[in-house]
Amino acid sequence: MLIFKSVQETQSVCAQLRREGRILGFVPTMGALHEGHLSLVRAAKAECDVVAVSIFVNPTQFGPNEDFAKYPRSFEQDCTLLEAEGAHLVFAPAAEEMYPAGTSTFVHVEGVSERLDGASRPGHFRGVATVVSKLFHIVCPHKAYFGQKDAAQVAVLRKMARDLNFPAQIVVCPIVREPDGLAMSSRNRYLSPEERRQALVLSRSLKRVEELAACGEMSSRKLTAAAREVLAAEPSVRIDYITAVDPDTLEEIDEVSSGTLFAVAAFVGSTRLIDNTILKA
Ligand code: AMP
Repeated sequence: MLIFKSVQETQSVCAQLRREGRILGFVPTMGALHEGHLSLVRAAKAECDVVAVSIFVNPTQFGPNEDFAKYPRSFEQDCTLLEAEGAHLVFAPAAEEMYPAGTSTFVHVEGVSERLDGASRPGHFRGVATVVSKLFHIVCPHKAYFGQKDAAQVAVLRKMARDLNFPAQIVVCPIVREPDGLAMSSRNRYLSPEERRQALVLSRSLKRVEELAACGEMSSRKLTAAAREVLAAEPSVRIDYITAVDPDTLEEIDEVSSGTLFAVAAFVGSTRLIDNTILKA
């Protein structure tokens, strides 16, 4: 497995692979890898000749009071996991390599970037769209793999890829969960055992919504109220948002239908967790 820290080296090796006619799959991550990330690598391996993975804790997508400094970093272990999965190339640049002094160009996907997590975390999706567009220019993948876990990110990046004519096909993979339902996340490492237990209300609230929708409840107001009721079982879990939206525009809708995105974000202690489901009415 090749490990690069330099933009130029990664760019020239990826360009060479493309010239050789290889189909290049790309999985962008912030490291602290878990089965959710590895599921993306496996999907890429199944569909592409070569799989590149980036590991970069991107400073521009963290707010000033967020967890950039304490975000978990486990580079050696990540490389061991990626090697075992058969990834071909890891790109792990330093922050100064990605953002040399004087960098002043950013990508802002208007509208969709201001909704859901974008509303709670101003500037977050500007950072995400900027780093992913830079990574796309560096790797030039045929296919790029993202998790449904970050549903709002998927909406922003799909729009960005369309608006800016990125040739990469965006592939979205299902949410990988712990056996008890908790969506896997690098941030789960922050949870105390008690918080870990409390965090289960997120997936439980979504299960309730799925059940009600399957029984024909289409009112997003009623579905949201039912989800809030489940979340209220853990009073120390503080809801950030809980909403039914169009999965592409992230605009709220009154009546859910098949394909509606039902998403939740909540603080468990000081850890902000997200989860979601696509309703099958
Ligand atoms: P991150 O390292 O948090 O930036 O995540 C890198 C990629 O892994 C993103 O596309 C995430 O959506 C995806 N991902 C993270 N957690 C999961 C999960 N539990 N299931 C599926 N994909 C995930």
